[in-house]
Amino acid sequence: MLILITNDDGVHSPGLSALVDALAKLGRVVVVAPDRERSAAGHSLTLHSPLRADEIRTDVIAVDGTPTDCVNLGIHGLLSERPALVVSGINKGGNMGDDITYSGTVSAAMEATLMGVPAMAVSLSADSFSYDDFYFSGQAAYALSQKIFDYGLPPDTFLNVNVPKGRPAGARMTRQGKRRYGDVVVENLDPRGRKYYWIGGGELGFENVEGTDFHAVHEGYVSITPLHLDMTNYTSFAGLSRWDLDVFAKLA
Ligand code: MN
Repeated sequence: MLILITNDDGVHSPGLSALVDALAKLGRVVVVAPDRERSAAGHSLTLHSPLRADEIRTDVIAVDGTPTDCVNLGIHGLLSERPALVVSGINKGGNMGDDITYSGTVSAAMEATLMGVPAMAVSLSADSFSYDDFYFSGQAAYALSQKIFDYGLPPDTFLNVNVPKGRPAGARMTRQGKRRYGDVVVENLDPRGRKYYWIGGGELGFENVEGTDFHAVHEGYVSITPLHLDMTNYTSFAGLSRWDLDVFAKLA
């Protein structure tokens, strides 16, 4: 059985090594990961420049692209067989609430799901990221991989897994929570006197609502959020049906 592992922190991240070691018992593990940090790359796909893939060790391939490129290239070009599972991580830092739309870690799992391969993203919500810090995240990834092999996943659905710091109290199925956004753009002058802006300078909070990913991790539980590729807000159709769309048939 072949398992494809990728991440967005780059091929040299200790979180990736911890994940490889944790899943090695399940089958052949092949890494196809960005050659450098690509956090917050989202679901970006490289279309306007070539991609290079370099096998830096046996079954460890570094690609000069995004996490989505790695999964796409891995499944369509680099791997000898179709993987049974794609696992993305273990990310340095949580990927919860609204942040998942920016996340390269989560988007890699999304890409695998688009290709019909079962997938999950695994992130460690902590503040230190040595190899040992990822131990329980690796154990959680191992246990969840077995669940996926045993039960499969619902159609077009993948798992976004967030692990708290230290030994987890257990695991909970959760829904996507909400961040509180603050003033996070820093404005300053570069050495040549030109203005620059830097996004992400502030500490952000979250809405601590029961049932959410943030709440579960805050309580010390592994958070498992099933995410769907269909982002349609079905409940909104009732309210939006009042919009009169007839005008669009009469555009002049
Ligand atoms: Mn990252």
